[in-house]
Amino acid sequence: MPDYAQLLLLLFIMSPGGWLLFTARKRGEGDDPHCLMCGYNLTGLSSERCPECGETLDADMILKGSPSEMRWNRFWIGALLVLVPAAWVVLHYFLN
Ligand SMILES: [Zn+2]
Repeated sequence: MPDYAQLLLLLFIMSPGGWLLFTARKRGEGDDPHCLMCGYNLTGLSSERCPECGETLDADMILKGSPSEMRWNRFWIGALLVLVPAAWVVLHYFLN
């Protein structure tokens, strides 16, 4: 029989963790066009293929601004906040 107050508390811990994970990837500032797949700078490029990854470049595949950067400290804190309670739930409710 699960203790709902505990589960609520876990959810309360996990939701900011999920938010941190979701916002870990930051889109940079700038106006240069970049390949959506690999982040290659496409400034001055006229061909319809990305020279780096070979992706066909229609308007949807071209990203304005510098490639997004990963904020790893944010990612790991978020991962910890999600995984530790999840592991606790598994240990507590499923392995006894
Ligand atoms: Zn590319």
